[in-house]
Amino acid sequence: MTALYPWLEPHLASIGEMLGRDRVPHALLLSGQPGMGKTAFAGAIAQLLLCEDRTPDHAPCGQCPGCIQFQAGSHPDFFSVRPEEDSSVIKVDAIRALGEKLVLASHRGGYKVTLLAPAEAMNLNAANSLLKTLEEPSDNTVLVLICTCPARLPATIRSRCQQLRITAPRAAPGKAWLADQLDEGQDAGLYLHLADGAPLEALRLAQAGVVEARREQFQSLLQVLDGRIDPLALAVTWSKDESLQPIHWLRDWLMDLLRIGMTGQTDRIRSVDLQDALAAMATRLDSRALFRQLEHINRTLRITDGILNRQLMTEDILLAWAAQE
Ligand SMILES: [Zn+2]
Repeated sequence: MTALYPWLEPHLASIGEMLGRDRVPHALLLSGQPGMGKTAFAGAIAQLLLCEDRTPDHAPCGQCPGCIQFQAGSHPDFFSVRPEEDSSVIKVDAIRALGEKLVLASHRGGYKVTLLAPAEAMNLNAANSLLKTLEEPSDNTVLVLICTCPARLPATIRSRCQQLRITAPRAAPGKAWLADQLDEGQDAGLYLHLADGAPLEALRLAQAGVVEARREQFQSLLQVLDGRIDPLALAVTWSKDESLQPIHWLRDWLMDLLRIGMTGQTDRIRSVDLQDALAAMATRLDSRALFRQLEHINRTLRITDGILNRQLMTEDILLAWAAQE
């Protein structure tokens, strides 16, 4: 089988152990921040369950018909439920269609495995329909749900799943894996820090040249404070980023500035590469104003989802930034 990310291996071993004791739950809820490899992990669980010739220590063989069909994406007992193209919602029809397949006997005589992701994408009707499947599971079915934030799922769904949270591997093995993927001179520790410990997200940041863009954004904020850049002009540039990344960085920096302001120390901050610049900036700014801005950004980000006009929202935030000194 394809090698699994090293930080996920202990989790897969624990699933293998459940399999060995014939204690695999009917429904597993995998959660964790983006960039942890949850989808790859769910795939590894599926292959493990569908393998017809597992090794004595409960790993898939990689060679049996079950493994080969799974890897080719053609296993008749594997189902994937995702939002339809051009939609961000998993609808009730998809869950009903799944229910119809799950009551039939397994084609190859083993497990029937379903991967449902992202679980938060189910609308209320879909979630209610899934609940029926969870309440009356047919034999040998395993449903693997993936989500970022379990709190966003109905409690009735959560309570019927065994939950497994994939947390960030703080140091090795995530860091060692990341260092292998990066170019020479790129600092794995820094990217991991910026991605809050999620190795795949750290790799995405490194490949997107994000650190350079981020430093530029930080400089622009300084120039706004010094009155050398018009916040409204900066808002035009920043609001072009659909993912609102500059606003997310600004939020991180506000939290770092508050940490420095409150403790006088820089050892707990997230943006370790900007430590000195942030410490200097913190001496210029008032904590109460920083706190108000942080609250404003948090509130705004909660209600965005394309509802707010990005440029107006960014203007609002940068005007508040410019006004604080
Ligand atoms: Zn196999």
